[in-house]
Amino acid sequence: MYYSSESVEELIEQLCRLPTIGRKSAQRLAAHVLKMPRSDVKQLAEALVAVKDRVRACRICKNVTDADTCALCLSTRRDHGLVCVVEESSDVVALERTGEYNGVYHVLGGAVSPVDGIGPDDLTFGDLVNRVAPDPKNPEAPKIREVIVAVNPTVEGDVTAHYLREFLAPYVSVTRVAHGLPIGADLSFADEATLARALAGRRPL
Ligand SMILES: [Zn+2]
Repeated sequence: MYYSSESVEELIEQLCRLPTIGRKSAQRLAAHVLKMPRSDVKQLAEALVAVKDRVRACRICKNVTDADTCALCLSTRRDHGLVCVVEESSDVVALERTGEYNGVYHVLGGAVSPVDGIGPDDLTFGDLVNRVAPDPKNPEAPKIREVIVAVNPTVEGDVTAHYLREFLAPYVSVTRVAHGLPIGADLSFADEATLARALAGRRPL
């Protein structure tokens, strides 16, 4: 069944390209958009374009930000000697929700996956090593004491953790959040209590 409007078909086709949106959901969303006031549709379209135009990676932690450096990296109330490494920005949101973590973060931008041809060079490993390794030009720079690996408990997460240990162990103590997170799960979907427990029970990697 196709719509008698090319514009509606085009909208459905574009919506179908988003993850978790099948044709049925796309049809429902398109029907909703048709009923929305023009001003609301314009706001939605502008928000979509704005994330591409304005959002960039934080200079230090590679988390999403509208500025050069994100608010977490700029905060003087956080412990900058403790860095939690996660796969995606959504994991930062999940860990912040626990209210149990007071360090800073590093966002890898994914996990190492040899099957998909994704190696450490395709992620922000290099930036992390630069953060952690002592800088001879700047010996006064704040020293990082511990890196907490909080990647997803998946095969890719395990491979990523292995690489992180290889890259970082010469410079810093590396720990990994405790298991107890469901295997194969996405960290950002874990509830706050489980995440807080995993964080408190971290072990040397
Ligand atoms: Zn940052």
